[in-house]
Amino acid sequence: MSLWRGVRLVCGLRAHGRAWLPASGGCRRCSSASEQPETGPPEFFDVVISGGGMVGTAMACALAYDENLSEKKILLLEAGNQKADGKLPELHSNRVSALTPGTAAFLSRFGAWDHICNKRCKPFKRMQVWDECSDAMITFDKADLLEDMGFIVENDVILSALSKQLTAVADRVHVLYRNKVVNYTWPEPYPSSDTNPWVQIELADGRKLQTTLLIGADGPNSMARESAGIQTVHWKYDQSAVVATLRLAEPTDNNVAWQRFLVTGPIAMLPLSDHLSSLVWSTSHQHASDLLSMDEETFVDAINSAFWSNENHSEFIDTASSMLRTAFMFLMPSGTSVRQLPPSVAHVDPKSRTMFPLGLGHATKYVGPRVALIGDAAHRVHPLAGQGVNLGFGDVASLSQHLGEAAFNGRDLGSTKHLNAFETERQRHNLPVMAAIDLLKRLYSTKSTPVVLLRSFGLQVTNAFAPLKEQIMAFVSR
Ligand SMILES: Cc1cc2nc3c(=O)[nH]c(=O)nc-3n(C[C@H](O)[C@H](O)[C@H](O)COP(=O)(O)OP(=O)(O)OC[C@H]3O[C@@H](n4cnc5c(N)ncnc54)[C@H](O)[C@@H]3O)c2cc1C
Repeated sequence: MSLWRGVRLVCGLRAHGRAWLPASGGCRRCSSASEQPETGPPEFFDVVISGGGMVGTAMACALAYDENLSEKKILLLEAGNQKADGKLPELHSNRVSALTPGTAAFLSRFGAWDHICNKRCKPFKRMQVWDECSDAMITFDKADLLEDMGFIVENDVILSALSKQLTAVADRVHVLYRNKVVNYTWPEPYPSSDTNPWVQIELADGRKLQTTLLIGADGPNSMARESAGIQTVHWKYDQSAVVATLRLAEPTDNNVAWQRFLVTGPIAMLPLSDHLSSLVWSTSHQHASDLLSMDEETFVDAINSAFWSNENHSEFIDTASSMLRTAFMFLMPSGTSVRQLPPSVAHVDPKSRTMFPLGLGHATKYVGPRVALIGDAAHRVHPLAGQGVNLGFGDVASLSQHLGEAAFNGRDLGSTKHLNAFETERQRHNLPVMAAIDLLKRLYSTKSTPVVLLRSFGLQVTNAFAPLKEQIMAFVSR
């Protein structure tokens, strides 16, 4: 069976009028790569997206559902298998994402959000974040807990919803699974008639393609980014994240996302259903390995103790913190929130424990001649704020809008003019979020008394000022 789906009977080359286009006078059927002739130019696409993870697949959907791009020939390339849209496994996957309302609204634009809601998705109404070394805490919620703060969704559910929406527009976008890009050849900045002006792509099976715009959605070790010579600022954190699916001691409404900042790293429990939650525990590499090798009972005890133990509290900090809280209760009675206790964990789903090394990465440029980077290929963050894929979906919303406008105005999709506008827009959003996440990670990695006092004070002040909290929520929910 051919791996190519949805071979379109339109010619994607006619608008370009360059020497490199097929010489036929009228529109001719574009050959699929499986039919690629031995000689002649490589098959042409207006846009090739390299990497069909959550972000790349969302990019393919956003372009396929944009009427302005309906005449464009688009290809999504993914090294792995297609996510099956079959029945969901009974056990929840251990890879989940906290999605913001902004992401839900974006995914609704092309129908993927309905599939997610119909499959498996747990909204949460409140977030409670607190410190291991003091009583300081902050809560985020919307008026009277009526609105959802966000949604916990398995990555497989997101991907299968996106794949389903792509299949529905198979006549608009080509998808090639189980084939890897092995080489890119980039055009000269100022192409002359004797230089090929397009990006040349070579696949692992020897097929060759060319495109006016290559979108690199190929993850944190992006080959597109490296091959285009785009530098990154990156470092490894001294932490790995242990993930697992947890069974609660008793069923609850389970509509709160919990996160406690331990000195060794943050631990989060994210709701999946009334009796299940997902664990993301960032800790030292050694401790992460130890957590993986523990028997179930010891692991469960370690989780409960990480959420409940006060052994790192100091009397001095507790007293100072309590005086501050009392002052706030007098000055701003509405600015204090009720502390809730997290549910206790009884079991861990078998084989759901695994770990991921953590790091930060930021491409110094998101765009170059005929290339744009999105998702983890452009930026990788610590999972403590649950922002990684949300930032990626934000990139998709922005880039697809700029490409739609360029197509509407008859412009070259690979032109740096609108690619630069995309880069500016996204860096303005992504950089402050990344800086704040990195700062939080560092601020909470110490139990030095002055730092604990400072951060406890900061957390309580922020918690007491509703307008400031609303600003934070509005910024990260986009
Ligand atoms: C423990 C943990 C918890 C997280 N929790 C959250 C959360 O709650 N909320 C949130 O927003 N984010 C979260 N994240 C971050 C989120 O998972 C990532 O930001 C997201 O997966 C990035 O998606 P992506 O599509 O950009 O990259 P990837 O998922 O890395 O996908 C890249 C794709 O490109 C393909 N590929 C690579 N090279 C090639 C090639 N040469 N040719 C063809 N295909 C190629 C790969 O096969 C892969 O499918 C978390 C991350 C971790 C580690």
